[in-house]
Amino acid sequence: MRENYTLPRLYIEADLSAGEAVTLDRAQAHYLATVLRRGIGDSLRLFNGRDGEWLADITELSRKSASLRVGMQSRAQIMPPDIWLCFAPVRKARNGFIAEKAAELGAARLQPVLTDRVQFPKMGLEKLGLTLIEAAEQTERLDVPQLSDTVSLNKLLDEWDSSRALIFADEAGDAKPALDALPNCPAPAAILIGPEGGFTDGERERLRACDFVTPVSLGPRILRADTAALSLLTLWQAVNGDWG
Ligand code: SAH
Repeated sequence: MRENYTLPRLYIEADLSAGEAVTLDRAQAHYLATVLRRGIGDSLRLFNGRDGEWLADITELSRKSASLRVGMQSRAQIMPPDIWLCFAPVRKARNGFIAEKAAELGAARLQPVLTDRVQFPKMGLEKLGLTLIEAAEQTERLDVPQLSDTVSLNKLLDEWDSSRALIFADEAGDAKPALDALPNCPAPAAILIGPEGGFTDGERERLRACDFVTPVSLGPRILRADTAALSLLTLWQAVNGDWG
């Protein structure tokens, strides 16, 4: 059973411990006062990705600022399985969709990757970071997925730590079915999804030549990048993640 489940939950950067006074930023104060219509004395929950989740009471509140007093810890910190999502940027709204759903599905890190056929290289990382925070608040997870700066596929592969399996969603059709390959790719692992235009032959060759790369197929239909990302994350979680 989840306790305190109905209390609002906010992510903050500050350290959390019993008795601590914390202040919220303007956007969060506004959200508490005008959207949630909370007032002085009301309780909520706070997490920062490090110290678990804590109950806190509102001690001051206006539309522009809020102060809280931290009470008891309600949950100890746990981290999600170590699965990253490396994905080529797509259209803006779809990047947001991928980030939100990846946070819900428990991805530990999002890594935007530029490949030859990327059509929309600008990611809007700041907006994406806010989407990840909102999604994390909503899912009850105790951390927010990390968001890395965009890198080229070549740099990603050059600097890859080969103890992490890279599961490459290869639409070419001759890769192993994902469910056959995934038992050999436990955490730490990462998923790689291409852009709308797919991977070039050169990229595919380079990927397949890396010993840490496992190419996988998601069936006979070509999926959109967002569908492929969420399908493969789901399968990985079901096989290797924390759903069991
Ligand atoms: N335009 C490309 C398809 C790109 S789909 C073409 O027609 O070939 C975008 C990305 O989703 C792909 O690069 C791949 O990573 C993933 N993807 C889509 N369908 C897939 C499938 N059936 N199997 C594995 N990966 C797939």
